[in-house]
Amino acid sequence: MTRARVLLLTAALGPLDYRVPHGSEAPLGSVVVAPLGPRRMGGVVWEEASFGAPDPVGDNRLRNLYEIVDVPPIRAPLRRLVEWTSDYYLAPPGAVLRMVLPGAAFADARRPIVEYRATGELPARMTPQRIVALERIGARQGMVRELAALAEVSEAVIRGLVQAGALEAVEVSADAPCPEPDPAFAPPGLSDEQAAAAGQLRDAVAAARFETLLLDGVTGSGKTEVYMEAIAAAVEAGKQTLVLLPEIALTEPMLTRFAARFGCEPVPWHSGLRSTERRRAWHAIASGEAKIVVGARSALFLPYADLGLIVVDEAHETSFKQEDGVHYHARDVAVMRGSFEGLPVILASATPALESLAQVEAGRYRHIVLPARYGGATLPDLAAIDMRRDPPDRGRWLAPPLVDALAGRLGKGEQSLLFLNRRGFAPLTLCRTCGHRIQCPNCTAWMVEHRLVHRLACHHCGHVMPPPRLCPECEDEDSLVACGPGVERVADEVKLRFPDARTAIVTSDTLWSPAKAAEFVDAVEGGLVDIIIGTQLVTKGYHFPNLTLVGVVDADLGLDGGDLRASERTFQQIAQVAGRAGRGVKPGEVLIQTRVPEAPVMSALVAGDRDGFYAAEAAARKQAGAPPYGRFAALVISSEDIEVARGVAQRLGQKAPAADGLAIYGPAPAPLAMLRGRHRFRLLLHAPRSFDLQGTIRDWIARIDWPAKARLAIDVDPYSFV
Ligand SMILES: [Zn+2]
Ligand SMILES: [Zn+2]
Repeated sequence: MTRARVLLLTAALGPLDYRVPHGSEAPLGSVVVAPLGPRRMGGVVWEEASFGAPDPVGDNRLRNLYEIVDVPPIRAPLRRLVEWTSDYYLAPPGAVLRMVLPGAAFADARRPIVEYRATGELPARMTPQRIVALERIGARQGMVRELAALAEVSEAVIRGLVQAGALEAVEVSADAPCPEPDPAFAPPGLSDEQAAAAGQLRDAVAAARFETLLLDGVTGSGKTEVYMEAIAAAVEAGKQTLVLLPEIALTEPMLTRFAARFGCEPVPWHSGLRSTERRRAWHAIASGEAKIVVGARSALFLPYADLGLIVVDEAHETSFKQEDGVHYHARDVAVMRGSFEGLPVILASATPALESLAQVEAGRYRHIVLPARYGGATLPDLAAIDMRRDPPDRGRWLAPPLVDALAGRLGKGEQSLLFLNRRGFAPLTLCRTCGHRIQCPNCTAWMVEHRLVHRLACHHCGHVMPPPRLCPECEDEDSLVACGPGVERVADEVKLRFPDARTAIVTSDTLWSPAKAAEFVDAVEGGLVDIIIGTQLVTKGYHFPNLTLVGVVDADLGLDGGDLRASERTFQQIAQVAGRAGRGVKPGEVLIQTRVPEAPVMSALVAGDRDGFYAAEAAARKQAGAPPYGRFAALVISSEDIEVARGVAQRLGQKAPAADGLAIYGPAPAPLAMLRGRHRFRLLLHAPRSFDLQGTIRDWIARIDWPAKARLAIDVDPYSFV
């Protein structure tokens, strides 16, 4: 009889033993479907020695596997990566495995899926809901569930439209072939510096062994063209490449750039894909047919058949850190995957993370520097506007020097960008009569006014409400006022000052789909926009040659909050957004509005002293034992019942381990004391780099009885401290 130990796709269980049905084979890595109680569940055949080698179950108690799925087995290097991720981030291995086999993507590719699309016929009976639904669906197609989500209506409304003949069924096969990228399609003309850097990267791909390369080039230096040469080398060798991007919104422009270089679009992978697209992409990745995959962090765990290269673009971005479920950092896990698979990993950035530069200094990463902008374009001039000396008018947000600069650009027909990392109209709504502030009922957070859609929204849980006319507290009429600016409010000021200027607001609210992002790029490139007002979404990736002025509306915003990376993040964000200015032949200018122009981060930005800033920041971190020179981990205990959460946190506090070098802060209410209706208490661990934090936490939490109503979230190497 053959047995198989299977890691199932559930966070609740470790590996379980099964019997392989007579006549079948299930070698290591096989994807299987197994019985679990009355359910069927996917899983992967795993080594018996893994996960602490639990004792095997007796032969007489084994159940038969239902099915061995006809897909390539999950290879050993990826199984090791799942184990490492689970171990390092203290996450259940089944939860990590779910990123390898997401949803039903691995299901049989030959079984067609039925999708629906508009026929152009209008139903005889048109309800307001049907009108809105058909408008939102437009030319797109998808399964009933997907169309319902897209149109924000119930599935019954969609089915009604199908019955009424307004939507028709289309059969979609998931195994349509993938186009082949052509490495010789349109090689770029490279500068000498770029060619030298590209040569090093090509050699690393040819060497086909593990190495991490930090491609460090100022904004506009043409990093993308350079790493595309490494990708061309991988394609020539018949291998696959994974390119990780920090934002879905960047995917679409990147697909276009790849198509221009390689003659066809790469395979995208992100949460915005339809089920059919996802299934097709998964199979093409697992079979090796998808040569270039461009995706968000979840693409990192997919079962590539023959991976030859990983590129992490904008590698300093903190959005590579996953903040729920498995709390992993995609940049760090990408390096681990490179090490297990034996392949080079390129981290590309104009403003590398201090962590990456420390690895260069320690001799672990190779540093490849592109010091100049491509095509002779110069770096923009940066200047600070001291808001104490040059304040904006009352109730306005743009200081006179910035207003003058905008007027100058409008006069010359050049484009400007105003950057404020805050969505909506105003971050706070306050009652003038009684001082009441409108707070989210589920979170310790203010409701943010979104005037474009006439709603107040919580940016933590998504709760929305119409803006009240009466103060909810004192019931005074028309007493509520908006406090502080968001991008929509800055856009209002621009409209007021320059009524003829054509503006575009760029936030995740307006650029919520790849299509919207493409529309925006076309409008700016076509000269249909004079002033862009945007959040961090516009700080990277875009290349607009006629954009010559960048105004940073509130440079101090990121410095609040006491986050250990606040200065670094502010430096990166402003350097990135500054990099949007003057990318063509016309020189760029950057004006930074700040109340603390003397702060080291501001003076370093103005002086263009990147090295000085990083050296000072590294010294400060070393002094404080902060990352990358020390380590943190956060335990957040949450419950809908505040007493349950407090009780568990206190018991943990009482049993806190004592060790040399280890400091434990708390338990205390987390800065975000309530989130999505759950009360939160936090314990923060701080230790030297060499300390075994994971082992300590594992032993510690095992000493506590966990009530069912309490939940524990563990964040190793946290980036968010709320
Ligand atoms: Zn009031
Ligand atoms: Zn909320």
